[in-house]
Amino acid sequence: MATYMQDWPLLVGRILDHAARFHPKRPVISRDTEGPISTTDWKGIHHGAKQVTQALRTLGIGPGDVVGVMGWNTARMLKIWYGVPGAGAALHTLNPRLFADQLTYVVTHAEDKAIFVDRDLLPVILGVRDRIPNVRHIIVMTDRAHMPDNAPDDAICFEEWIAEHDGDTDWERVDETAPCGICYTSGTTGNPKGVVYTHRSNTLHSLASQSPDMLGLSSRDRLMPVVPLFHANGWSTGYTGPMSGASMAMPGNNMTPAGLYEMLQHGVTVTAAVPTVWLGLLQYLDAEKKTLDSLKRVVIGGSSCPRAVIEAFQDKYGVQVMHAWGMTEMSPLGTVCTFKPEVAALDHEARLDVQETVGHPPFSVDLKIVDDAGADMPWDGVAQGRLLTRGDAIVGTYLKHDEPAVDGDNWFDTGDVATMDENGYVRITDRSKDVIKSGGEWISSIELENAAVGHPDVVEAAAIGVPHEKWGERPVLVVVPKEGATPDKAEILARVAKVVAKWQVPDDVVFRAEIPHTATGKISKLQLRAAVSPEDYQLGG
Ligand code: ADP
Repeated sequence: MATYMQDWPLLVGRILDHAARFHPKRPVISRDTEGPISTTDWKGIHHGAKQVTQALRTLGIGPGDVVGVMGWNTARMLKIWYGVPGAGAALHTLNPRLFADQLTYVVTHAEDKAIFVDRDLLPVILGVRDRIPNVRHIIVMTDRAHMPDNAPDDAICFEEWIAEHDGDTDWERVDETAPCGICYTSGTTGNPKGVVYTHRSNTLHSLASQSPDMLGLSSRDRLMPVVPLFHANGWSTGYTGPMSGASMAMPGNNMTPAGLYEMLQHGVTVTAAVPTVWLGLLQYLDAEKKTLDSLKRVVIGGSSCPRAVIEAFQDKYGVQVMHAWGMTEMSPLGTVCTFKPEVAALDHEARLDVQETVGHPPFSVDLKIVDDAGADMPWDGVAQGRLLTRGDAIVGTYLKHDEPAVDGDNWFDTGDVATMDENGYVRITDRSKDVIKSGGEWISSIELENAAVGHPDVVEAAAIGVPHEKWGERPVLVVVPKEGATPDKAEILARVAKVVAKWQVPDDVVFRAEIPHTATGKISKLQLRAAVSPEDYQLGG
């Protein structure tokens, strides 16, 4: 049968073309790494991205190549975000918090030919430079006046380099299934695994992510991604912003609560980050007696969002919380907690209960929960199973792996354990490797942790399973108290006892000055379990 529609490949360059043609004057505000806050617009980002494409071609970089970037969320990052795929190459985002060995591994494994780097992060790259001979060019993202003293002689100055080009060029016409971006999972055990996004998967995923029941973006929004674009495809904000014609604010390298507050007050309507960022901001707002004037919605994901954070944003500051779940392998958005009619009709407390779930998926993300034998489990809000997913922007095979990451029906095991309810709302209860199994039953460590964090003197909490003669395992809570505070164990456990069954209440609380984290800011249970020994706690009978 003939095809009656146009051949219009889904290339990400078209997203920026759209923003530049139909929303050219929408501001892009950026805290530059040189210090000041500058403003450009989608026309300016588009022009700069095209200059990046032209400049890359002069280095001989094109289709089939990989280019790394280690930088903060800035206007320059957006130019590179489009300029690299525009040249037909794949953009490999590098997390500056990776250990030198991991960084060397991912840059070598992905075969990065060049690396863009922010001036303050240059030492991280120079620290491994002699171990990454595949990297032929280092491009420092600044102007000549701000080139750091430690820049090697052959380092390229970004602004000077792109200024040699007029921006008058076409994007490379690659296939829509060509690689567009690469992001490695942090890999708590073994080597990091590379997820390769295509132009098509990024475009389709962004269409789904910006839709009303997900991020709900429009040209009336100013979107500020606090989540770094190098983490999990930047939660796709680098695409959904321009796609929806929204204005953007890029917070740069100042992630202090005061720095973020300053940027938020530049008319930001919607923002996104992990819970710890928001805990810090809420403490700042409280201490400084500040208000949030333009902010309407905050997307919180990456780790479970404690109820206390949801309540504070909504009831104290009038900002709607959108609890979200996803992962690098899912491009990354899986679900967002927005209100279906059944939920909107509930009272205040019951709606808060629902907001502790991570919500429901958009079209193109399929989900199910299964038992250990792979059989479907009921969506009754109680049964916990392994959460499986499939869709058009979900990993099929990791970079350079021989075996697919999915089963014969394309189901990908997320490694998360969850319940689902009759309305399709997902509650993440654990990572499967962190599940606490006591007397044959599963205890949700996330539920224990969120209840403990509700205590005013608790900054962070992590629940781990420790061996127990009779029950197999029992939960123990590791708690970081607020500076100068000495919270009472019994008080913390009493809070937990309000939300879980009696047999699920941890046997003991261990206080620690800090809890180990992974490069993406998640609690590292692996390291934590190794750091807590039987002398540290007492178990019940
Ligand atoms: P990493 O590289 O650290 O694995 P990801 O962003 O890919 O980075 O991590 C994805 C995992 O983070 C999910 O599989 C899940 O375990 C956890 N996660 C993400 N969002 C939430 C959430 N809202 N609640 C609980 N866990 C979450």
